[in-house]
Amino acid sequence: MGSTLFVIGLSWKTAPVAVREKLAFSAGEIPGVLRELTAQPNIEEALLISTCNRVEIYATTPRTAPASAVASATAEARGFLARSRDVSSEDLAECLYEITDGEAATHIFHVAAALDSMVVGESQITGQLKEAYGAAVHAHTAGPVLGRCMERAFGTAKRVRSETGIARGAANVSSVAVELAQLVFGELTGRRVLLIGAGKMSALAARHLRSHGAAAVSVTNRSRERARELARDIEGEVEPWDELESLLARHDVVVTSTASPQPVLTVPLVKRAMKTRRRRSLVIVDIAVPRDVEAKAGSLDGVYLFDVDDLRRVADQNIEERWREADAAAAIVADEVEQFYRWVKIQPVVPTIRALREHFAGVAEAEVDKAVKSLRQRHEPGEQERIVRRLGELIANKLLHDPMAALKAGGEPSPEELVAALHRLYPLGDPGIEPPRRAHAPEKKPTARDQAETSAEPRAPAPVPSEVAHRAPAPPESREANAPAADDAERETEPPLPEVATHAGGRRRGSA
Ligand code: NAP
Repeated sequence: MGSTLFVIGLSWKTAPVAVREKLAFSAGEIPGVLRELTAQPNIEEALLISTCNRVEIYATTPRTAPASAVASATAEARGFLARSRDVSSEDLAECLYEITDGEAATHIFHVAAALDSMVVGESQITGQLKEAYGAAVHAHTAGPVLGRCMERAFGTAKRVRSETGIARGAANVSSVAVELAQLVFGELTGRRVLLIGAGKMSALAARHLRSHGAAAVSVTNRSRERARELARDIEGEVEPWDELESLLARHDVVVTSTASPQPVLTVPLVKRAMKTRRRRSLVIVDIAVPRDVEAKAGSLDGVYLFDVDDLRRVADQNIEERWREADAAAAIVADEVEQFYRWVKIQPVVPTIRALREHFAGVAEAEVDKAVKSLRQRHEPGEQERIVRRLGELIANKLLHDPMAALKAGGEPSPEELVAALHRLYPLGDPGIEPPRRAHAPEKKPTARDQAETSAEPRAPAPVPSEVAHRAPAPPESREANAPAADDAERETEPPLPEVATHAGGRRRGSA
């Protein structure tokens, strides 16, 4: 019994892009998908992540379902994917994975920490997963188990990034361009940057350059309109396309990424620009294929030219470095997964723990209230101690009453099973051996006043003569307060104590 977490999906590891595209869900579709998933009989909580590299459902079975329900739940999720994307179950089976039991959280934590990403340690996936979780929360399909799981997955991702080098070093072309420029100039702060071309690659590079402190980013492009659009997005300047030579003279870092079939920056053009720069270094990062810059320009004094192969080499080295950190990262994941499953395991007993705590606290509170009333009126030496001792005894007796009654009642579960459970719950020693009897101080017969102190009845404002008190009929609460005295189970486990008269005229134990 208790929710079982499971994962069903596909990723770049199991499915080519053509299949991933077909199974992808847009952000607008996700709320409906989540509602449909949680309408299945064996799915209680659900989250869907859909990126260009993975489509995965994280879900749980209902709290009250047996562990075997997970097989039906994965079949329901599989059926839903096939129906909604119009793919045959056979085609799906080839690329779909299902992860259940202890492995599901391990997979989710690996995904969050970018250990399952195409570029290990990349930073996008954690954000994408946060969005997916946000959508599930919004659709009310993320409950306590997914909530706890995702919260720990994000915590794990943070630990992995800060405690290992998994995210160190740029791993994509546009961020490597920034890293290389930093190698030449140190910080980019205050450096003037020129983008040649205003397409997708330029936009990516611009964002990286901006976030690394490049002061002014200018854009030049064959069509001025597109340059204007990009410049607006990145708060940069537009420069004329036909002034490349003077632009090179005025900028420190040039990133070029046009789709031109001919070189845009020839050796003579760069040479003339370097003359104007008076040997001030110029970094040129050529992302284009075919290349935008004639290769020989890289041999000119003061020119640091990097092409796509240089960028790829650096990225590959960085990725290799990141993989060296993967073992340390996996150890963090294992530690976090263990803590998560420890939490999952105790969930079925949480309501009982809460109820038990409330029951114990309620019994203790009721007895303490009575004792406090008595304490307020008793100042004689020894009286207060006696009241407190009696309080402890009353609380223990009340708490023992129900389990004792159940033990003696027989039936189901059997007394033997109850005995075994009690021995598992409390340090009672060997079940077959009598525990050593507690040594008691010689009994002192309590006075009528003692009895009034420990009775459930509120004290009368004036002292009640003891004879009257003894004759007074006991109210139900008073009987309850003294109930353990009539409980022979107590006598079975405790040495006999002197008996004294109660309010009800019955007998109860004297206090030790
Ligand atoms: P894109 O979005 O289509 O943009 C193409 C850009 O090139 C536009 O600014 C366009 O200017 C300009 N352009 C096209 N033909 C030109 C010409 N004959 N002369 C001058 N400019 C011209 O392309 P993209 O995806 O950003 O790709 C740009 C370059 O990066 C390509 O060479 C591509 O091969 C390369 N690339 C490299 C990688 C990598 O990993 N290294 C990845 C993707 C792309 P208009 O606005 O005037 O048309």
